[in-house]
Amino acid sequence: MDAENTTPLLVASSNAAIGFEEGMSLLRDGAPALDAVVAVVRRVEDNPEDHTVGYGGLPNLRGEVELDAMVMDGRTLKAGAVAALKGFRNPVLVARRVMEVLPHVLLAGEGAATFAREMGFSESELLTEEARTIWKQRLEASLAGSDEVPPEIASYYRHMARFVREMTQDPEAAASEHETDAMDTVVVLARDRAGNLAVATSTSGWAWKYPGRVGDSPIPGAGGYADNRYGAAACTGRGEMAMRAATARSVVLYMKMGLPLWNAAREATLDLYALEDEFANVLTIYATDAHGNHVGFSNREGRTYIFQTGDMEAPDERPCAFVRPDGSTEVRPASGRT
Ligand code: ASP
Repeated sequence: MDAENTTPLLVASSNAAIGFEEGMSLLRDGAPALDAVVAVVRRVEDNPEDHTVGYGGLPNLRGEVELDAMVMDGRTLKAGAVAALKGFRNPVLVARRVMEVLPHVLLAGEGAATFAREMGFSESELLTEEARTIWKQRLEASLAGSDEVPPEIASYYRHMARFVREMTQDPEAAASEHETDAMDTVVVLARDRAGNLAVATSTSGWAWKYPGRVGDSPIPGAGGYADNRYGAAACTGRGEMAMRAATARSVVLYMKMGLPLWNAAREATLDLYALEDEFANVLTIYATDAHGNHVGFSNREGRTYIFQTGDMEAPDERPCAFVRPDGSTEVRPASGRT
């Protein structure tokens, strides 16, 4: 591919806007796609107002912030990831070091923390006062103690039971209440001037999650995937669905098998409806092909994504296509939620 002829591109979940200026400036200067996605994600991780990623992220059931992150380089198909990492503010940087230094792809928990220390990252408190308050209020509102099982376990099951009950009675309302305060992630895809693709993800995961729970975000093929030859994809939302359906890899594989980007992302969204799942929650897919076309797809209405090409001054927001279980698909004007 002619390096000078390829227009740089960033595609991301809307919460990534804060890092677009830096990411696009790197791409315009000819930096690799991998540098750009890492730079954008790092900005989001450092933003305490984002309760779904890095510093300021909402904690697990015990009040500990556990972070997942991944990078994947579409040129080499190399990936690096960390899961359930505690005490480090920029898991995406640690994930990149896993890819560069180790013969492994994914480190979890204490091993990931040891590695982060060895790589010179400094430890810091991730739980902000605001995130702690949100965590505590929701926990107290949902739960009461139990003598029979450890209180945090009882709490977990009661919280989940309420969630399932609400989902059953009024799925739309419950899904919208829970997904806004319990989940989100930053995902960023980039295409550089040489035509290389890369993806990075970072998340504090499902808030109030069972300690040690790992979602799709650090799993190559589930929460993100990049292959220069065909395209790249990443997901936000209920990670368990993306893991079970291997969603990010599915999008890329459908393209490899000949589907255009739009049909590939639609097919991967349709795959989600085959999953039996009492939570039946939202999953949103962000994808680009090798030519720089991009789409957002979701199994929920009103989702959006952002993108910016090298000739645009600022990111633009686009509606995601909404796919119904019967396969009918529509795109409505953006409502502002990712
Ligand atoms: N996908 C993330 C996870 O399951 C959360 C999210 O994107 O909302 O951990």
